[in-house]
Amino acid sequence: MKDALIPIRQKTKTTCPYCGVGCGIVISTSDGGVTVKGDAEHPANLGKLCSKGSALGETMGHEDRLLYPEISGKRAGWFDAIDSVANGLTETIQKHGPDSVAFYVSGQILTEDYYVANKLMKGFIGSGNIDTNSRLCMSSSVAAHKRAFGSDTVPGTYEDLETTDLLILTGSNLAWCHPVLFQRIIHAKKARPEMKVVVIDPRRTMTTDIADLHLPLHPDSDVVLFTGLLRQIDQANTVDQEYVDKFTNGFDTALSEAQSATIEVVSRITGLSRQDLQQFYDLFIATEKTVTVYSQGVNQSVMGTDKANAIINCHLATGRIGLEGMGPFSITGQPNAMGGREVGGLANMLAAHMDVGNEVHHEIVSRFWKTDKLTQKQGLKAVDMYKAVADGSIKAIWIMATNPVDSLPEADMIKEALSKCPMVVVSDIMGNTDTMAFADIKLPAAGWGEKDGTVTNSERRISRQKAFLPLPGEAKPDWWIISKVAQKMGFVKEFAYTSPADIFREHAELSAFENSGRRDFDIGAYHDISDEMYEDLAPFQWPQAKGEQPSTTRFFADGGFYTNDRKANFIPLSPGVPSSPCSNTLIMNTGRLRDQWHTMTRTGKSARLSAHAAEPIVDITFEDALKRNIHDGDIVKVSSAHGEIICKAKVSQELRAGEVFVPMHWTDEFANQARVNSLIRAVTDPVSGQPASKFTRVTISPLNPTIYGYAISFSKPIFIQADYRTTVRVENGWRTDFALSLQVDNPEKYASDLFSLNGDEDKLVYQDGRQQDNRIFIFKANKLIAALFLSPAPLNLSKDWLGQQLGSEIEDPVTRYKLAAGRPGADQPDKGPIICACFSVGAYEISDAVRSGKCSTVEQIGDVLKAGTNCGSCKSEIQQIIAPNQILAAE
Ligand code: SF4
Repeated sequence: MKDALIPIRQKTKTTCPYCGVGCGIVISTSDGGVTVKGDAEHPANLGKLCSKGSALGETMGHEDRLLYPEISGKRAGWFDAIDSVANGLTETIQKHGPDSVAFYVSGQILTEDYYVANKLMKGFIGSGNIDTNSRLCMSSSVAAHKRAFGSDTVPGTYEDLETTDLLILTGSNLAWCHPVLFQRIIHAKKARPEMKVVVIDPRRTMTTDIADLHLPLHPDSDVVLFTGLLRQIDQANTVDQEYVDKFTNGFDTALSEAQSATIEVVSRITGLSRQDLQQFYDLFIATEKTVTVYSQGVNQSVMGTDKANAIINCHLATGRIGLEGMGPFSITGQPNAMGGREVGGLANMLAAHMDVGNEVHHEIVSRFWKTDKLTQKQGLKAVDMYKAVADGSIKAIWIMATNPVDSLPEADMIKEALSKCPMVVVSDIMGNTDTMAFADIKLPAAGWGEKDGTVTNSERRISRQKAFLPLPGEAKPDWWIISKVAQKMGFVKEFAYTSPADIFREHAELSAFENSGRRDFDIGAYHDISDEMYEDLAPFQWPQAKGEQPSTTRFFADGGFYTNDRKANFIPLSPGVPSSPCSNTLIMNTGRLRDQWHTMTRTGKSARLSAHAAEPIVDITFEDALKRNIHDGDIVKVSSAHGEIICKAKVSQELRAGEVFVPMHWTDEFANQARVNSLIRAVTDPVSGQPASKFTRVTISPLNPTIYGYAISFSKPIFIQADYRTTVRVENGWRTDFALSLQVDNPEKYASDLFSLNGDEDKLVYQDGRQQDNRIFIFKANKLIAALFLSPAPLNLSKDWLGQQLGSEIEDPVTRYKLAAGRPGADQPDKGPIICACFSVGAYEISDAVRSGKCSTVEQIGDVLKAGTNCGSCKSEIQQIIAPNQILAAE
């Protein structure tokens, strides 16, 4: 951790703020240092952490933090900031009605924050216009759960993924997106090699490394794949007729609809061979203990809800639900997407898993909150909310802990909408996000490690997040900010919370209020816990009703669904048709990288994490690259009907021809034009409102710049013009890759402008006249503080090694001159690109260990270099390096 932060506790048990696995963490603090370790007692991770969780200590510095409230660009006190937000909302509501205001919140905030935000908007402002960025993540699963079960219930637990005999991972790159859960599965499979894993994904990802069968289906063809499975289940007499008759409705209609999904039809639409399909279907039919895990590849689609219901239909038909090792299992992306669902953070839900539009629920929540203003109608879902901002019907929006300018589709439209909106309030920990740039009122929020509350992970486990650092500057927890605004708006008693524990007790009480087993979400057992008990609350799974010890932590083995007749619904689904090919365009898929999180506002602070992927890339197959005269490493333009991004081509064999993949993380903060959501059309699933982030038609062409540049520097360089530019952290500063379509007539002046030099530095200038290469090194007190490389051809440098030289003391002119080679001499090691972020082990170190004959397995690499021995997220990449180097070693 860079800044000297004074801890307020010595040892703290808390929860990771990144993904939906919800790993427990033990923080030890001493004299400005923070040590992050996995909590061996937390049931989600049993002591393990992935690379992102392990690097949390490197992301807590105060650089770029928003530390004070601002109004119209000027520092303000909290009194004025609260006043401005409350008055702005009140005046807008008075003039234009409650639906003229909106809150856009986030799966990053804690349940207690979420609860008060939802209570204020739905209960007291009287509008449904609160939605969350979880809409982009798992709202199709929510909609599918509600259609099938009558409630948003995840029936199983993580243990089911280990005890199952057949694990189907569909639309989920678990190895990178939920790494600790993936490691649990790897260990389970190692212990029981007979356990089978099927991965359904158009791409070959690191997850497919453990697959017994990989089905690289055509994008968006999952519905027919599972509808065909339903038909096959019936044909093989595997229907659990007793379960279907006793606990479900609509089976016959769903089956009749599935009849046209013959194996020929499924093969044609999915692009999968009949043999592979039959193998998959036979495996499912023969294996009682089956779990189907699904994630964003299922959810982020115009038919995301149907895809999830197609999966659920198969589990209902076989009665494989709610029992050990069986069930459909939706994994959430965000740390508190589930908590947001529990408090009604989605525009179509009320608090405590109740529904907007359900009269009984409306009456219950109104009475509990003692309000006559509770919204009667659903609010606008994320995409429609910003369309309403754009068309002027929403005139005031409060964005909390999220970055919609980068994360929503048609992202340039979001910029335009916010720039026209009369009042934009943004609460965030960071002061420099792409969204913060549009804020009229900026509110500094408490960050992870500074705030208290609870989060719920993907298996319904509620865990505490705890503060172990003091609040920096004038930052405040979100629940405090929202409650103060609510009180200023006149709702004094209703928001008189003094702590997150107050809010948690009310949330627990509401979950139990007039419930009596009629609603799935019930944590009434905690309605009266003391502040001390809340402080030490151990992770627990819901339901936990008042006075009852649940007999199982799973749902629905014996029916008991939350529909009117307590029976589940089969959803009839037609197989659909193949998507029409288009010869000019490629289908763009998007997703996560192993070591970055969302829009990089936090993980981008870690040099270790940034080393895994320093530049935005587009994965493209060799055939598609060849057709477009694109080579590996070329800078390319990716265009759609909505925008254009510039990134580097990575020729890959892991995709289907005609498809490309672009990571979702890059923002204007780290690159000049790589916001992938600017390409994506704002089209959504008609049931869930979730945007289709994984199917965009794009064209790709080479950029052909005149100058390629690379720079390292202590301080972030100032760029005036670059056609392509990306700037990420390295250990002592910044690494910048860039390209220009201009000539640089005066490289020394260019370096001086770029690095804001003041003239008292030592310079070493190297110019290769023939190739017009320019290499400039800047020293101060013998320390290398910056370097610039300019060339008309792509730079062949050891960039990671150069980044590691920043800050080195080099007095000797000969050693200085050697830097001009841009790579280490024979006497200096070059790690190469970092593969293991936990122990900073590079690709060249791994290949050297293999070629020297010291190692031939991932385990041996772990023994010799430690790589892969902490979180294990890089094991698949290590394996990929071992294989070709073993061949070379044998030659
Ligand atoms: Fe955090 Fe990694 Fe665990 Fe997810 S898997 S909760 S990112 S440590």
